[in-house]
Amino acid sequence: MTTTAVKTKSVLQVRGPGSNHWVGDGFPVRNMFPSNGIDAQVNPFLMLDYAGPKHFAPTKKHQGVDEHPHRGFETVTIAYQGAVEHRDSGGHSGVIFPGDVQWMTAASGVVHEEKHEREFAEKGGVFEMVQLWVNLPAAVKMSAPRYQAITKEQIPSVQLGKESYARVIAGELEGVKGPAKTFTPVNVFDVLAKAGERFELALPAGQNAAVVLLKGKVKLNGTTALEEDALIAVLSPDGDAVSVDVSEDATLLVLSGEPINEPVASYGPFVMNTREELVQAVEDYRNGKMGHLS
Ligand code: MN
Repeated sequence: MTTTAVKTKSVLQVRGPGSNHWVGDGFPVRNMFPSNGIDAQVNPFLMLDYAGPKHFAPTKKHQGVDEHPHRGFETVTIAYQGAVEHRDSGGHSGVIFPGDVQWMTAASGVVHEEKHEREFAEKGGVFEMVQLWVNLPAAVKMSAPRYQAITKEQIPSVQLGKESYARVIAGELEGVKGPAKTFTPVNVFDVLAKAGERFELALPAGQNAAVVLLKGKVKLNGTTALEEDALIAVLSPDGDAVSVDVSEDATLLVLSGEPINEPVASYGPFVMNTREELVQAVEDYRNGKMGHLS
């Protein structure tokens, strides 16, 4: 047997959330980027909000975010606890239950609402989810919207240790491919890590990458300790792996992606390449060109 020397991706920086705020009245989020200054280093990812975990009392109110638009990128919603109900101008609707992922390509424009699912809201309970924004290259920013409702049964796992495993949502890990269709090469792994275990995660050289510790305690590459909830470690594009020592049961979201080397112009829910395209997006939304909820 031969062993191949693996050059690990180095940890460039570790940051906590740059902002703690509510999105609508349903999502108390810690923003893991870009409010903390992490931006181009994680291109093609644009934004990551970690909502909860927070206990919600039973209510008849339909908590969440009312009708709003998106254009020029994708929103990826990963539910950990509680359930998110979704409805959009394309006539799509559904519920994202724990373990499920909704990969929505807003592209030319979608108007949608995101709410706590009614039954969950009426019973009350702990709510926890992540929303990640993935940029689209200019060539497909104005393509038709697309909606991938990925259930937890469709997401394959790769065993990383005796009890640690990665759910491959998008991209590929050890030959196992995730179900999400993406426009540029992207990996999104939901990693459940067990205390006392150690493993390596292969991540492509040349891709920007980050490890987001949602909860638990880990040490990266044997040196960088992440010991409080909601931390992001930005990794270098060079190198093709990161090692994880798990000191306390942990949930990690591991991201990597080929950078999209194009100008980024963003304004709230619109992410385009130029200012003119943003002006157009606002106008198109106001004129109802992104549709309405029925
Ligand atoms: Mn939205």
